[in-house]
Amino acid sequence: DKVHAPVVILGTGLAGYNLAREFRKQDEDTPLILITSDDGRPYSKPMLSTGYTKDTSASDLAQSDAGSMAKQLKASVWTMTHVSEIDTANQMIKVGDAQTAIHYGKLVLAVGAQVIQPPIGGDGLDKVYSVNDLLDYDDFRTAVKKNDVRKVCIIGGGLIGCEFTNDLLNGGFEVETVDPLAYCLPTLLPEPAGKAVQAALEAKGATFHFGPLVTEVNKAEQGVVVSLNNGQTISADLVVSAVGVRPRIDLAQASGISTNRGVVTNRLLETSAPNVYALGDCAEVEGHVLVYVAPLMAAARALGKTLAGEPTEVAYPAMPVTIKTPACPVVVAPPAVGAAGDWSFEVDGNNVKAEFRDTAGALLGFALTGEATKAKLALQKELPVILG
Ligand code: FAD
Repeated sequence: DKVHAPVVILGTGLAGYNLAREFRKQDEDTPLILITSDDGRPYSKPMLSTGYTKDTSASDLAQSDAGSMAKQLKASVWTMTHVSEIDTANQMIKVGDAQTAIHYGKLVLAVGAQVIQPPIGGDGLDKVYSVNDLLDYDDFRTAVKKNDVRKVCIIGGGLIGCEFTNDLLNGGFEVETVDPLAYCLPTLLPEPAGKAVQAALEAKGATFHFGPLVTEVNKAEQGVVVSLNNGQTISADLVVSAVGVRPRIDLAQASGISTNRGVVTNRLLETSAPNVYALGDCAEVEGHVLVYVAPLMAAARALGKTLAGEPTEVAYPAMPVTIKTPACPVVVAPPAVGAAGDWSFEVDGNNVKAEFRDTAGALLGFALTGEATKAKLALQKELPVILG
C-alpha cells in the first residue's frame, strides 16, 4: 500500500477545524496535521463580542482542547507552533526556528486575518487592547478585572467596534466610541441605517465621536487619556482598538505565493503554488475577500472534497451578515463594490429597510435594522449569488 504524504492545515480557527472535519467525512486514512501558533482550543470567534452580554469567560468559550480535537479528527495538532517558511518547490514547511521541516502532500493556508494597528502615539499603549482570538479575549477580560475598569474607549465604529460598544454597555460599562467617518458601521451601511444603530446605542448610554482620528493614548493618574485630532480628549480606564482586520498574507508572500488583498485562489481554492490551497479570512477567492463565517463554511465543504480527490468548486450564495448589536439588530448584504444602482429607504424610527436596486429594479443589496430585519429571508431570496 502506498503511504500518503500528509495533508497539512495551517491554522485551527473556524476555517482550519471545519475543513479538517469536512475532509475526514471524505477520507479517514490520509495522515492529517494541523499546525497553529495559538493553543489550538476550538471556539466560535463571533462570541468574542458578546462576552459581557452572556457573561462568558475564555474557558467558557473554548469548546474543547487541542488534544481532544486531535483524537476526534484522527489528526495530529501542533500548538504554539509558528510556520515561518514554505518551500513550495519541495513541498516542505519549516516550523519555529526552522530546525524542523515537514513534507506535505497538500498544504492549506487557514491563517486568518490580523488586526490593523492604527498609528497611535503616547505612553499608554499598554492599555490598548484588540480582541481577535481567544487568547486576546482572555487578556482583555483579565485586564478589565485587574484594573477595576468602569469606562472603556473604543477606537472604531465598524462591525467589531459597534458590537463591543453594545456588549460593554450590556456589561454595565461606560463607553465612548471614536470613528473618523460620520456614523455607525459606515463601510457596511447606508447613512439612515447607520444612524439608526447610532441612535439606539446612544439611547443605551453610548457616546460617539464621529469625524476625528485618535492620535495618542497617554497614561493618566487613573487610566488613560485618549487624544483626538480635533483637540478633544477622552478619559477612560482601558481602550479597545477595533479599526478592522486584513488577511494574513505575510507567510504566502514570503514563500512566493501570489497575494493581492488576500492569498489569491481560484474557485477550487488553489493558490498559485502546486498543492497549496487557502480558505477563510486569509483567502481572496476569485477576487472576493469575505471575512465572515458563512463563506468559510462553504469553502470548507468544497475543499474537503477536493483534498479527498474530488475537485469541487466553491459556490457562494448571497450571504447576509448579522451584526450583534441587540440594541438595534442589523442584517446587511452590501452590494458588490462598484455596483450601479440606488438606495431607497423606508424609515420608521430605528427600523430601517434599505434596498439597493439597479435601474431595471433588480435587488443587488440591502440593509435592515430593528424590526425591519424581519424582511431578511424574503429579500435574501431576491439577491444574486456571489459565485454561482
Ligand atoms: P482565525 O480564526 O483567525 O484562525 C487563524 C488560525 O491561524 C489561528 O489558529 C492562528 O493561530 C493560526 N496562524 C496564523 N498564522 C500562523 C502561522 N504563521 N503558523 C501557524 N499558524 C498560524 N463573522 C460572522 O460571520 N458573524 C459574526 O457575528 C462575526 N463576529 C465576529 C466578532 C469578532 C469579535 C471577530 C473578531 C470576528 C467576527 N466574525 C464574524 C468574523 C469571523 O469570526 C471570522 O471570519 C472567522 O472566525 C475566521 O476564521 P479563520 O479560521 O479564517 O481565522
